[in-house]
Amino acid sequence: MHFIDSHTHLYKEYYEEDLDAVIQRALDAKVTKSILPCVNAQTISDLFDAVGKYPQHLFPLIGLHPTDVTKNYLADLDFLEKQLSRPEVVGIGEIGMDLYHETEMVEQQKDAFYRQLAWAKELRLPLSIHIRSAYPHALEILKKFTGCGLTGILHCFSGGIQEAEWALKFGFILGIGGVVTFKNNKLQDIVKAVGLENIALETDSPFLSPTPYRGQRNESANIPIIAQKVADIFETSIERVAEVTSANVERIFRI
Ligand SMILES: [Zn+2]
Repeated sequence: MHFIDSHTHLYKEYYEEDLDAVIQRALDAKVTKSILPCVNAQTISDLFDAVGKYPQHLFPLIGLHPTDVTKNYLADLDFLEKQLSRPEVVGIGEIGMDLYHETEMVEQQKDAFYRQLAWAKELRLPLSIHIRSAYPHALEILKKFTGCGLTGILHCFSGGIQEAEWALKFGFILGIGGVVTFKNNKLQDIVKAVGLENIALETDSPFLSPTPYRGQRNESANIPIIAQKVADIFETSIERVAEVTSANVERIFRI
């Protein structure tokens, strides 16, 4: 049995002191592979430093996170696009739209999202997509790529059943993390509706720790807690959850 953490920011400043111990705890918990999304040009050397240290376990993506879209986004995209040829890179992310906080960058976010989706189309790379409080905007842009063969994960899925059905039809699966362990969350119904074959497990470390670690720094070793919750939802074994969700991520990211 092994697990995959399909979305984790292990390389960031949050793990400067103890990354080795964090990775060891993940391996002890049978989380043998983790996908590391990129958020901006400034932290890219941290990302590749971590991947260089654990090439068997950490798999990087390249992308400009929507909340990192600034007035300089075109220069950032130029720089990031050049990183796509690095042999370690397995996909594009995290990219998308985030209008949770008021922002003047709506048009720039849309343009950055569109340009990066075009990379994915051209290079046939899978995606890790971040959508927060922006489903109508994000779907409008994704629809321009209908029939282009895009695939990937809608990370930290926060939409409703309609968005979930649309995502599946489009070729995406849903990233499910700590939120599924919180009390009174609607995500459990969505997980049940889409089925195990359409979900990936993720921590989104250092954020969104599952219950009972809510509020603390998250890490990939917490994946089995999320897996157990998913197993309870389907009334199946954690081994089966590990097997199916790992195969989903391995298929999409070819790792
Ligand atoms: Zn993320």
